[in-house]
Amino acid sequence: MVPDSVEMVSDSIESMCPRCGTFHAGGVFGEACFQARRLARTCARCGLLHEDYDLAARILHDLDKFDCQIYIPDVDKLVMNGNNIMVPDHIMKTLDDQLKMKQDDEQLKMKHRFKKRKMMQIASMEEPNQDQETSNCFD
Ligand SMILES: [Zn+2]
Ligand SMILES: [Zn+2]
Repeated sequence: MVPDSVEMVSDSIESMCPRCGTFHAGGVFGEACFQARRLARTCARCGLLHEDYDLAARILHDLDKFDCQIYIPDVDKLVMNGNNIMVPDHIMKTLDDQLKMKQDDEQLKMKHRFKKRKMMQIASMEEPNQDQETSNCFD
């Protein structure tokens, strides 16, 4: 027996993997293990690996993570273009609107925060007369 072939044989035997807990060949660092672990994390609802799309959801719509309930309300009608999910226009529009509302809301919050800070600054000034005196100088 040639040592090389022995290795190849042991590589192609599927065995219980200590890393991912499934049966596959190639050892814990092999492609099969990588795929098995990916498969274990795929969504039961849409069959996609959500983490593949987390970043896109964050960039596009400021979401914490990809949620197929939002992006793919009807799994049966899911259209893929390679690895890209073809999200229907009306859903994109809803998400855009939500994002805009969120951004408006955040702007409003920022304004509130700013106001609060200003009020605190005013409150912390314990010499209310000083302002008057200064403004008097310019009269
Ligand atoms: Zn494995
Ligand atoms: Zn899903």
